Amino acid sequence: MTPKPLSPLLCSMDKHDPEPGSEYKENLQRRAQCRHCDSPIHLDHQGHWIADKPKTGRTSGWHRLFCILNRHTPANHAAKWNGKTYVSRCAFCEAPIIRKRHKVWRLLRDRDR
Ligand SMILES: [Zn+2]
Ligand SMILES: [Zn+2]
Repeated sequence: MTPKPLSPLLCSMDKHDPEPGSEYKENLQRRAQCRHCDSPIHLDHQGHWIADKPKTGRTSGWHRLFCILNRHTPANHAAKWNGKTYVSRCAFCEAPIIRKRHKVWRLLRDRDR
């Protein structure tokens, strides 16, 4: 039997440990999955791995799934007309997004600017 690590305690204090190999980059942010509690985590500006926090209370996982599939939901207050189309930020993952057509928002890429 392997001794139980301290990690669940650390996880409950929002100090996580990335699963080796699960690390990836998204919008210049280092992200990973916690090896102990499986939460999606990211590296904050102080160099700590902390759990992703949904902005709007109980955000369910399916929004995240849509984000992964590059289908984002604009935070309406952030939408701006850039001369060609609307750009905004995703209400769930906060990525910069661009409106492709009615109700279809995609990640803003450099070539869209
Ligand atoms: Zn954890
Ligand atoms: Zn999103």
